[in-house]
Amino acid sequence: MQTLEPTTKSPVTPPEFDTTIRRRKTRPVQVGNVTIGGGHPVVVQSMINEDTLDIEGSVAAIRRLHEIGCEIVRVTVPSLAHAKALAEIKEKLNKTYQPVPIVADVHHNGMKIALEVAKHIEKVRINPGLYVFEKPKGDRSEYTQAEFDEIGEKIRETLEPLVISLRDQGKAMRIGVNHGSLAERMLFTYGDTPLGMVESALEFIRICESLDFRNLVVSLKASRTPVMIAAYRLMAKRMDELGMDYPLHLGVTEAGDGEYGRIKSTAGIATLLADGIGDTIRVSLTEAPEKEIPVCYSILQALGLRKTMVEYVACPSCGRTLFNLEEVLAKVRAATSHLVGLDIAVMGCIVNGPGEMADADYGYVGKQPGYISLYRGREEIIKVPEERGVEALIDLIKTDGRWVDP
Ligand code: SF4
Repeated sequence: MQTLEPTTKSPVTPPEFDTTIRRRKTRPVQVGNVTIGGGHPVVVQSMINEDTLDIEGSVAAIRRLHEIGCEIVRVTVPSLAHAKALAEIKEKLNKTYQPVPIVADVHHNGMKIALEVAKHIEKVRINPGLYVFEKPKGDRSEYTQAEFDEIGEKIRETLEPLVISLRDQGKAMRIGVNHGSLAERMLFTYGDTPLGMVESALEFIRICESLDFRNLVVSLKASRTPVMIAAYRLMAKRMDELGMDYPLHLGVTEAGDGEYGRIKSTAGIATLLADGIGDTIRVSLTEAPEKEIPVCYSILQALGLRKTMVEYVACPSCGRTLFNLEEVLAKVRAATSHLVGLDIAVMGCIVNGPGEMADADYGYVGKQPGYISLYRGREEIIKVPEERGVEALIDLIKTDGRWVDP
């Protein structure tokens, strides 16, 4: 059969006009039934506050988070008893709900705990600064290469059994560096800097690679947003230079609560995501973990990385506004917020409204006092009295076959 070559070339977007976020290419890392990296949608994580020894409470908390969209749930395992409790938690979840990918946080001198917990859950998070704990010497003025290497050797010995266990079970590890808990030898060698954070992660990655284990996710969190941004950017650059393609887990630690906690997290996470960096995120708030999930989804939706809700475009209102915009937006939202996938615009007037609806699927626009017009894309469909506006919008969406009952 003859194949015809296209005679016209499709237009190429110059880079300065390109509005697509080009995500950094990473390897897929499997965590239970969820994949991090490899071009998969950015994964949302959070962490329960329950003591893992409280089996019932932990099962309920994990389920609560999972039901509202948290795709991987983190728990802490400060002791061997906690690690063992996870076997029961997993079993209860499977019996009464469904399998949920769990990551367990192992900190101080956690080798035995990590080995135990690795049997029960999908991913272990270790903190390189604390995995082999060196007591800081207050009077130290230098770190010799011999001392540096000696501890490096101890880390290798301690990490090896965990790496082998995870590798042989096809499970994953997060190498979770924290700016606030860098090991003393990293601080002496590289300073309290993003470079120290990156080198700390690389040391652990190299040990894993030498044992042929590559189911790795890396994080470099800091409570100061610019530090965290610099560390992730440097890590991505170093990994590119070294031919490494591990997915990155983004987060700002101790972001606090309320509006500022959300903005601070967003400033760090969204800046990196817009650069194409990041495969999984956690927004850490000093609030109930359930409050973190909507923030994660809002960040991803705002950047066009995931669509989990209706995208509302609304003008800020001004002297031309023909109705109470806040009230009408709330009414439209209440009627349509379940129609995930749609873009709906609510604009105060026809002067600028239709032109600024940002290609929304539907527009609700002030036409003249007491009347609004409904648009499908850029086409004006019907003018109705304001009090019939929301009802007519629903009818229009129904006519188009895009309505589903809440
Ligand atoms: S769309 Fe109309 S009402 Fe809304 S801000 Fe612009 S000019 Fe004002």
